[in-house]
Amino acid sequence: MNLINEARQQGRAALDEAAGKALLAHYGVDVPRTVVVKDAAEVAAAMKPLKLPVVVKVISPDILHKSDAGGVRVNLKSVKEVSDAIAAMSVLPKIGAAHVDGWLIEEMAPAGQEMVVGGLRDPQFGPLVMCGLGGIFVEVLADVAFRICPITRLDAEEMIDELKGAAILKGARGRKPASREAIVEVLLKIGGENGLMMRHAQDIAEADINPLIVSETAAVAVDARFILT
Ligand code: ADP
Ligand code: MG
Repeated sequence: MNLINEARQQGRAALDEAAGKALLAHYGVDVPRTVVVKDAAEVAAAMKPLKLPVVVKVISPDILHKSDAGGVRVNLKSVKEVSDAIAAMSVLPKIGAAHVDGWLIEEMAPAGQEMVVGGLRDPQFGPLVMCGLGGIFVEVLADVAFRICPITRLDAEEMIDELKGAAILKGARGRKPASREAIVEVLLKIGGENGLMMRHAQDIAEADINPLIVSETAAVAVDARFILT
C-alpha cells in the first residue's frame, strides 16, 4: 500500500489522519469528504467541493489528542468561519508549540451514536479487532469486545451484543437506533477475512477509529489513527 510506504519513507511511525482515512476508504469504510490546506489562504478554493457545515482539525505528528490541544472545531458554516477558526487555533499554546503540517477540513457526519472500532496485533494471537461504545463507555467502563481475526458476520454480531451498552445502540431512552448492519460491515472491513487487519498484519501495529459515528442508516469514521509496526 503506497500510503504506508510513503509514511515509512518520511520516517513516520504513524499515518496522519488524512492518510488513515484514505486507507479506510480503500477498504470500503465510509469517511467524510475531506480536503487538506496548508494555511487559511487556501481555504476558499479548497472548500468548494465540500457541503457545509464542516469540521476543521489540526494536522500535526506532535498532537495525539487534537481536542485536548483545542485543535478541533465543528459545525463551521462558511469560508470565513473556517479561516477564523484556523487563525484562532494556530495561536493556542499546544498548537503554537507543535510542528503543524496543515489543516484538515471535512464534512460533518450525520448525527448518531459514537462508537470505537480498532485493531491491534497480539504477539501470540496475531491481529485482533475490537469495538465499543464511545466516550465514558470505553474510558471509564471499559465496555469493549475483542475477537481474534479473521471474524465472521456472526462474530461481528456477537461482539455488538456482548457490549453492556448494547441497548443504547437499539435506541434505549428515546435515542434513535444505530444501524446494526452498518456496524457489522465496518467490523468485517477491519477484522474480516479480507479486512484491513488481515491484509496489513505485517504493517499495522494498531488501528483506531474513534469515533465511528453510527446513525440509523450509516456508519462514518470521523477520526482514524494507524500506528505502523
Ligand atoms: P481527537 O483527536 O480529539 O480524538 P476527533 O477527530 O476525534 O479528534 O474529533 C473530536 C470530536 O469531534 C469527535 O469525537 C466527534 O465528536 C467530533 N467530530 C470530529 N469530526 C467530525 C465530523 N466529521 N462530523 C461530526 N463530528 C465530528
Ligand atoms: Mg478522536
